[in-house]
Amino acid sequence: MAEKKKGIREISPIDVYKLLPRTNCGECGVPNCMAFATRVVNGEAVVDGCPPILDDGHKDAYARLNDLLAPPVKVITFGTERTATIGGKYVLQRHEFTYQFPPPIAIDVSDDMDPASIQARVHEIASFSYGYIGRTLTLDAVAVRSVTGDAERFGSAVRLVMDSTDLPLILCSHDPEVMKAGLETAGSKRPLIYAATSENWRAMADLAVRYGCPVVAAAPGDLALLRSLVRTLQACGITDIVLDPGTFGDEGLAGTVYSFTAIRKAACRDGDPLFGLPILGTPIAVWTGQELGEDQNRWQEAYTASILMTRYADLLIMHSLEGWTVLPQLIWRFGLYTDPRKPVSVDPGLRVFGSPGSDAPVLITSNYALTFFTVESDIKSAKLDCYLIVVETGGLSVEAAVAGRYLNAEKIAEALRESGIEQKISHRYVILPGLAARLSGETEEASGWRIMVGPRDSSGIGKLIREHWPPKEDH
Ligand code: SF4
Repeated sequence: MAEKKKGIREISPIDVYKLLPRTNCGECGVPNCMAFATRVVNGEAVVDGCPPILDDGHKDAYARLNDLLAPPVKVITFGTERTATIGGKYVLQRHEFTYQFPPPIAIDVSDDMDPASIQARVHEIASFSYGYIGRTLTLDAVAVRSVTGDAERFGSAVRLVMDSTDLPLILCSHDPEVMKAGLETAGSKRPLIYAATSENWRAMADLAVRYGCPVVAAAPGDLALLRSLVRTLQACGITDIVLDPGTFGDEGLAGTVYSFTAIRKAACRDGDPLFGLPILGTPIAVWTGQELGEDQNRWQEAYTASILMTRYADLLIMHSLEGWTVLPQLIWRFGLYTDPRKPVSVDPGLRVFGSPGSDAPVLITSNYALTFFTVESDIKSAKLDCYLIVVETGGLSVEAAVAGRYLNAEKIAEALRESGIEQKISHRYVILPGLAARLSGETEEASGWRIMVGPRDSSGIGKLIREHWPPKEDH
C-alpha cells in the first residue's frame, strides 16, 4: 500500500534541506540552505527561490521537492495576460497554515444583453476598486453566460468582453456547440470552461483537450456523481479540473456547506486525488431560486458568498455588483487569507500631514495597519497640519499593545527621539491616543515631553486640535 503523503505541518526543514544543493551559497537571499529550508516549510519562500536547484544536475531533487511540498488541493490557473490562480490549499483550518491563493470573485455578464450594456458592465467590473488599509481590493474575473442558447450570439458576447478587458474569463454554457463558439473566440486566452456534466462530458472533454483549457466538473447535489465525472475527465487526459458540487441557497445552504466541507476534508485529511481539486461556489444561483425581490436576492447572494468563502470555495461566481454586496466579500477575503501569525502592519516612523509649522501638533499611534489607516484618514478629513509618530508595536492595535507592553513609555520616548521631531518643532507636547492614557505619567518621565491625552476614537482628533491646541500652558 502506498505511504500516506506527509501534511505540510509534518514536513520538517530537514526533509527539505536534505534535497537542497547544500552549498550555502546565499543566492536565495538567506545565509544558508537550512535557513532557506525553514522559510520554505513556513510558506515564506518557494523552492524556485533557490537558483542552483533549477540546474539540470539537480533535476531529480527538484522533482522530489515539488512532490514533497505539493498541496493536497491542486493549483490551477486560468487567463493569460491577467490570470486567476485557484486551489493550492494545504489545510482545513487557517490557524494550521496560512491559506494560499485567495478565491477570485468573478461577476457575470450574459449574452442576452445589448453590446453597450455588456461593455458598461465589464467596465464596472474591471474598474471596481476599494482602498483598504493600504491595499487595493478588486474583482478578479468575468463569467460570460449563455442564456440565449445561440452559439453565434455567445461568440459575439465573448468577443466583446475580451475586447473590453484583460481580466480572465469563465465561459458558461452546458451546450458544447455554444461553448465551441466561445472557445473559437477566446480559446487562446485559457478561459475556464463551465461546465462538463454527466450529459455533455464527452464533448466538453474534447473541447478542453483541444483548447488546453481547465474545465469545471458539475454534479449539483451528488458527490458520488462528481467523483465519477472527475475520474472520467482524468481518464480523458484532463488534469486541470475544478469541482462544482452545486450551490443551493436558502434551505439548501447547509447541504451546500456540508458538500464543500466533505470535499475539502477528503483532500486534506485523506489525500483523495479525485477531490484534491479547487471548488467553485456559485452564489449567483440564488437568482434562479424563488422570487424574493432584488434586494433580498442580493442579501442572500452576499451571505452565501461569505459562507462559501469560509467553507471552502476557491473561486466564486456572483451576479450582484453593488458595493454593499461585493465589498464585504473582498474585505472578508482579505482577513481570511492574511497570515494569522502576522498582524498587518505599516512601517514605524514619522509621517507628515499638510504643511506643519514649528507649533504643529504631534500625535502618537501604533503600527497596526487598520489603526494607522483609520488615524490617517481622520487626520486627512479634518485637514490637519500635523506630525504623526508611528510606534513599532509588533503590528498590534493601541489597546492590545498597551496591555501587552508593546507600547510603553520607553518605546514612545525612543520613537520621539529617533523621529527627529525635536528639530522640527518649538514645543514639547505630544498627544497620546486615549486608549494609552494610562501611560501618560511614565511617558512624561521617560521622554521629558508633556502629554496631552487624545480621544479614544481617532475620529475625535480634529475636534481636539480645533478646541485645545495649542495647549494652554504654553500661552
Ligand atoms: S540558493 Fe540554494 S544552495 Fe544556495 S544557500 Fe540558498 S538554498 Fe542553499
